[in-house]
Amino acid sequence: GHALRINCSIGVSVYPDDTHDVDVLLRVADVAMYHAKKTGKGQYHFYTRDLNQIVQDRFVLENALQGAIERNELTVVYQPKVDASSRVQGFEALVRWNSAGQGLVTPDRFIPLAEETGQILAIGEQVLYAACRTAASWPLIDGQALSVAVNLSARQLKEPGLPAVVADALAVSGLPPECLELEITESMIMGDVEHTIRVLKSIKALGVRIAVDDFGTGYSSLSYLQRLPIDTLKIDRSFVSGCDRGGKAMAIPHAIIFLGRSLNLHIVAEGVETTAEKDVLAVCGCNEFQGYLFSRPMQAAAVADYLEGATS
Ligand code: C2E
Ligand code: MG
Ligand code: MG
Repeated sequence: GHALRINCSIGVSVYPDDTHDVDVLLRVADVAMYHAKKTGKGQYHFYTRDLNQIVQDRFVLENALQGAIERNELTVVYQPKVDASSRVQGFEALVRWNSAGQGLVTPDRFIPLAEETGQILAIGEQVLYAACRTAASWPLIDGQALSVAVNLSARQLKEPGLPAVVADALAVSGLPPECLELEITESMIMGDVEHTIRVLKSIKALGVRIAVDDFGTGYSSLSYLQRLPIDTLKIDRSFVSGCDRGGKAMAIPHAIIFLGRSLNLHIVAEGVETTAEKDVLAVCGCNEFQGYLFSRPMQAAAVADYLEGATS
């Protein structure tokens, strides 16, 4: 009783130009089809040698990443978040991969790959345990414990064992649960909403806080802001950049701050690069600020010195 719209993606390989071997011909057509799907679906794509290079590069990266996970070569850096009077409130943990063969690989390159291959589960656990262990060693600032924010990926949120892993990371490190915040993105909420709500509720029951990262860039329904057990909204960098120009540039940050505060949420601005941006956001009621203006992400070993400089 429903009309169905069916689209297709086509990969094309050409005999005998691409190869004389029938099996290889099918395999490279498959490679071309995946490329057609990846570049927006509903298209056709011819197999080319460049495409083969892309597939091979990916394969090399995936293998190198597997080695890095097994040898514990991924590291975590920490970027401070400060309040309106520039007092440090906590840090966001960001993963780094310094690969022997490939140099410094940015998360933008390897996190999407790790999501596809499932390697993100191991990476996510390593980052979570490392962040909790590191944060448990931070000093109190004016009698207040610092918090650490850890990014979660969609794959992790689908794992039924996630709340138990979070509980274990807290128990092993001794970090108080209220000092841990987990960051999710809007697109992660939208998949299976009921499941997401259940998982987030069991994580919240541990006393851990939940933040929505890159807020305003995904596809989310505002009604979920009421239903989800979240504590924090992080305004995406793209809205923060140049917001001090006022007018249209300030409209979205302003609306997010207003919306968030009406829902009793804590608001963090990411990617703050200038004092002017920070000031205008602070006037609007933004609670916390993160960005190069205060500090780039730093190694765990540099945090103590940074805190000394920031609090003296
Ligand atoms: P994110 O969670 O939104 O992190 C903020 C990103 O903005 C970080 O990039 C940070 O270095 C960068 N940044 C901070 N302040 C500024 C600024 O003032 N200007 C500019 N231009 N950039 C700024 P990074 O470390 O490259 O991470 C990129 C993304 O990769 C993160 O975005 C997050 O989505 C993902 N990611 C990083 N670590 C992890 C992790 O451990 N697990 C998962 N699942 N994702 C991670
Ligand atoms: Mg984040
Ligand atoms: Mg973000």
